[in-house]
Amino acid sequence: MHRTDSYHSISTLPLGEGRLEVICGPMFSGKTEELLRRIRRSEIAKLPTVLIKPSTDTRYAIGDVVSHDKSAMPSVVVKSARDILDVLEVDSRPALVVGIDEAQFFDDALPEVCTKLANRGMRVIVAGLDLDFNGIPFGSMPELLALAEEVTKLHAVCVETGRSAHFSHKIAGSSDTVELGEKDKYIPLTRHAFVAARKK
Ligand code: ADP
Ligand code: MG
Repeated sequence: MHRTDSYHSISTLPLGEGRLEVICGPMFSGKTEELLRRIRRSEIAKLPTVLIKPSTDTRYAIGDVVSHDKSAMPSVVVKSARDILDVLEVDSRPALVVGIDEAQFFDDALPEVCTKLANRGMRVIVAGLDLDFNGIPFGSMPELLALAEEVTKLHAVCVETGRSAHFSHKIAGSSDTVELGEKDKYIPLTRHAFVAARKK
């Protein structure tokens, strides 16, 4: 098998099986639920899996990926995108399926890291916010969306209209792009409701 990088010891699926999938959408759209669902199904298929989240995400149990409906799975917490390569390198049972939650919080090496893993034959499933609360593409998500074979755009329920929400509106806290919060700080809105709310 032809390899172009230095991580030779990670075993792989046959060449051609690797792929990158991105799950995106606003807060409360079910990204984490969908990521956990795909990881669980991979485990049912007896494929070695690893779930990873950035150390920025400390909202719930540190070490677990937890969805808003309290569904949870253990994960490895890493500081930077390149740490993901190290995590997979030391694992005695090399992962074939890698799930990465809260991708928008990672540094800009994440697309390169995901590409390396997919090129090695791994199924890489990335979940993250496509837009920040200003409605601007978040971190490396645009690049990941372009690189992915498959993109799933999820929607939340708009808290004002009950329709499909694509935007996360900040209702409290600071103007920092990275600020952890729940319903006390962010609400999902439709485009129309989002534009109106930002004018207020
Ligand atoms: P995400 O990772 O996209 O933030 P989660 O997978 O953690 O979302 O949580 C999705 C769950 O959030 C839903 O299944 C539902 O139980 C709950 N939820 C709370 N408020 C909303 C809302 N306004 N729209 C949709 N789901 C909501
Ligand atoms: Mg989530």
